[in-house]
Amino acid sequence: MTSESKPAHFLQNIIREDLAGGRVSEVVTRFPPEPNGYLHIGHAKSICLNFGLAQEFGGSCNLRFDDTNPAKEEEEYVASIKRDVSWLGFQWAGEAKYTSDYFDQLYDWALHLIKEGKAYVCHLSPEEARAYRGTLTEPGKNSPYRDRSVEENLALFEQMKNGGMAEGESSLRARIDMAAPNINLRDPVIYRIKKMAHHQTGDKWCIYPSYDFAHGQSDAIEGISHSICTLEFEDHRPLYDWLLENLPVPARPRQYEFARLNLNYTVVSKRKLKQLVDEKHVDGWDDPRMPTLSGMRRRGVPPAAIRNFCEMIGVTRSDSVVDLGMLEYAIRDDLDKNAPRGMCVMDPLKVTLTNYPEGEEESLSAPGHPVRDDLPARVLPFTRTLYIEREDFREEANKKYKRLVLGKKVRLRNAYVIHADEVVKDANGEIVELRCSVDRDTLGKDPVDGVKPKGVIHWVSAEKNVDCEVRLYDRLFSDPAPDAGDKNFLDFVNPDSLEILSGCKAEIGLANAEPEQSYQFERNGYFCRDSKYGTAEKPVFNRTIGLRDSWAKLRD
Ligand code: ATP
Ligand code: MG
Repeated sequence: MTSESKPAHFLQNIIREDLAGGRVSEVVTRFPPEPNGYLHIGHAKSICLNFGLAQEFGGSCNLRFDDTNPAKEEEEYVASIKRDVSWLGFQWAGEAKYTSDYFDQLYDWALHLIKEGKAYVCHLSPEEARAYRGTLTEPGKNSPYRDRSVEENLALFEQMKNGGMAEGESSLRARIDMAAPNINLRDPVIYRIKKMAHHQTGDKWCIYPSYDFAHGQSDAIEGISHSICTLEFEDHRPLYDWLLENLPVPARPRQYEFARLNLNYTVVSKRKLKQLVDEKHVDGWDDPRMPTLSGMRRRGVPPAAIRNFCEMIGVTRSDSVVDLGMLEYAIRDDLDKNAPRGMCVMDPLKVTLTNYPEGEEESLSAPGHPVRDDLPARVLPFTRTLYIEREDFREEANKKYKRLVLGKKVRLRNAYVIHADEVVKDANGEIVELRCSVDRDTLGKDPVDGVKPKGVIHWVSAEKNVDCEVRLYDRLFSDPAPDAGDKNFLDFVNPDSLEILSGCKAEIGLANAEPEQSYQFERNGYFCRDSKYGTAEKPVFNRTIGLRDSWAKLRD
C-alpha cells in the first residue's frame, strides 16, 4: 500500500489546506521523545507520521529530546533513540535538539509572564493545590498567593532559581482561571523546584519547566508548523494555545492530536517495558521478544516492515486496538520478498547414503530466492553423510505424510531423490541413523523408474555445516490485553515465550550471516543471526517469525 493508493488522512488534509491557504509556507514537524526509555512500536507510528508528513510535503522534521524531567533521563536512552530513528530510515533536520537547549529562553518567558501579572509563585503543598483545584464538576478556588505583586513574584522566583527554597516549598503557576471548565487552565504549574543534576545542563538549574510550559514554546522556537501528538494531549491544547498567545514567541505552531497505537498481546508503555527489564523478565531492552525497536531489530524485523505496518494501520482520531497479526503480516510480507533462502536442520537425524563414495563431495547449486535473481545462488556441499529433520522420517505412515518413510523415497531440496533402506536404533530403541540410497540421476529431474517421490525435505551435509543454536520466540504475553483495566501485566508473561534449540545444523554459507540480515530457513521460518550471543564457530539464530500464521489456525 502506498500513500498514493490510500485516501488522505485528516492530517494530510489539514496540511494541504494550510499550504494552499498560505497559513504555513513550510511544513516543519518534530518527534519529541522523552529520553527515559527505549522506543517501542507505538513510537514508530509517531515517527513514521511526523517524518513521513515532512517528507511528503517537502518539509523537515526535528528530533527533539523532551528532557524537562532530570530525574528519569539518561544518556543511554538518548543514544538508543537516535539509533532507532535512523534505523527506521529517517533523518532529522540538523543536529538533534533538546528542550534543555531552551531553558534560558523559557526562564525569560516565565519572567515575562510574571511581569505581565500572568504568573505567580505559589506555596500551596501538592495536597493543598489538589484541594484548591476543584473537580470536573466544581470550580477551583484561588490560591491565597495568587494576588502577590509583580515585584514580590520576581524576587521569589529569583530565590527559587538560586536554590534558596526547598523542593516542594514553592512553584511558579500561570495565572489563568481557577473556574475554567478545563482543569488544565486552572493556574497550572509551569516551573517546579528539583534539586537534581540534569544530563545536559548539569548543575546549572534547580528549577525545571513543566512539559506544558516547555513544549509549545520549544515548538515556536523551532518554527514547528504542525505539532502532532497523541490524543491524551487534546485537553492540554487550550493551555498550549494560551501560552503561545501570551508570550512574545517567534512563531505560532498548532497542535493536532491522533490516536496512539495499541496492539493486542503487547504492552506499549515505557514504564512497563522498563519494569520487564529491571525485574529481569526479559534479557534487556533489546530482548527479541520486546516490542521495542531495538528488540525487533535484534529479532530480524526489517525496518521497511514496520514502516509498511504504520502505513497499513493509518492515522485517525479514534482509539482502537490493532491485531498483532497485522504486524506479523507486514513482517512476513517483507521477508518473503527480500530474505535469501537457506536450510537449517533444527533436530538432526543422521543419514548415510550407502551407495555414495566415502570422501566424495560435490557442490550443488541452489537459488538465493525463488524469484529474486539479484540474490546470489548458494553452494551446497553434498556428501555421503547428511542430516535431515527427525520429524521428516517415519517408519510407517499414511498417505498424508509427504516426507521420508522406510522403504520409500523423498526428494532432498535442491538435490537428489533418496530411498530409506534401513533404520539404525540404539539400545533404547531410539532411531540414531538412517541408511539410505541416493539416485544420482535425479538432479532437477524425476527418477527414470517413473516413481516420483511425494515430498521434498530440507537437509544439510553432516560433513560441512554450521553448528548453531536456534532461539524460537513466541508472544511475550499470553493474554490479548495484558494491561487492560486493573490487570497486572506481569501475571500474563508467557513462560514459553523463548525456546532454545542447540546442536542445530545450518548450511555452510550461513557461517557468514550478518546480524540484521534475514534469511528464510526453508520450511522453518525467517531467521537472523543474533547480535548479542553466539561465536564465529557457533552462531545463534533468532526466529523472527514462522512461515505461516499459526495463531490464526489456533483461533479458528
Ligand atoms: P509511554 O507511554 O511509552 O511512556 P510517552 O508518550 O510517554 O510513551 P514519549 O517519549 O513522550 O513517550 O513519546 C514521544 C512521542 O511518541 C510522543 O509524541 C508520543 O505521543 C508518541 N507516542 C508514544 N507512544 C505512542 C503510541 N503508542 N502510539 C503513537 N504515538 C506514541
Ligand atoms: Mg510522554
